[in-house]
Amino acid sequence: MSDHAPSGIWLDQATVRLGGRVVLDDLSLTLTEARIGILGRNGSGKTTLLRLIAGLVAPDAGRVRVEGADPFADRKAALGNLGILFQNPDHQILFPTVEEELAFGLVQQGLPQPQALERAHRCLAEEGRSHWAQAPVSTLSQGQRHYLCLLAVLLMQPRTILLDEPFAGLDLPTQARLARRLAALPQRLVTITHDPEALSDCDRVLWLEAGRIALDGPPAQVLPAFTAEMARIGERDADADLAG
Ligand code: ADP
Repeated sequence: MSDHAPSGIWLDQATVRLGGRVVLDDLSLTLTEARIGILGRNGSGKTTLLRLIAGLVAPDAGRVRVEGADPFADRKAALGNLGILFQNPDHQILFPTVEEELAFGLVQQGLPQPQALERAHRCLAEEGRSHWAQAPVSTLSQGQRHYLCLLAVLLMQPRTILLDEPFAGLDLPTQARLARRLAALPQRLVTITHDPEALSDCDRVLWLEAGRIALDGPPAQVLPAFTAEMARIGERDADADLAG
């Protein structure tokens, strides 16, 4: 049965409840731009939205489609359509060596192990990192582990990459290198963050507040409005502290 979902990421009245609370509230969205930012303070529902789009959580009501497929029900389609770069590489990395980590996603996509390893080695050679192949992942720095996760995602050639606070915990040179690398990618990027500065080059920014879209537009409109509101909330909290 076709439900005429458009291309890109499509949410139709999607609601997610966790622990008896509504965390995402009746969201309807069509995301087709190349660079999309999802901005919100802690607890606004960003991670849950990312998990919903990635098919790691099912909506309690409504529908989610990525390139026409239901990412929760159709895991195989989701693997081809979407890659995720998690904030903490150590939540993502499963294998002791670099080559095994890189090959894993390809094996999941159906490539036999020897070909997957060959592709992993080719990728490392192209990156000037052939010497990493048999290295224990634990010997890489945090920035290098983050970069390894990005390479693993890129090897799977997804159409969209979901980035969870991609610059958190990285030193400034590593941030700059990663930003350059991401900017050059042909894929659609969806970045979730609480940091408006990370989203200034986006085509579209959605500000999430208590599981709903507070504002949706170009960064020049959304980022100053968000920053002003966060400053206002900060001042209010400070006053409350003084009063307490
Ligand atoms: P963000 O990424 O913007 O910080 P989250 O999506 O992680 O927001 O969380 C949104 C809200 O949902 C928060 O109030 C959080 O406490 C709640 N929440 C997240 N995961 C669970 C869970 N497994 N059970 C109950 N509540 C949850």
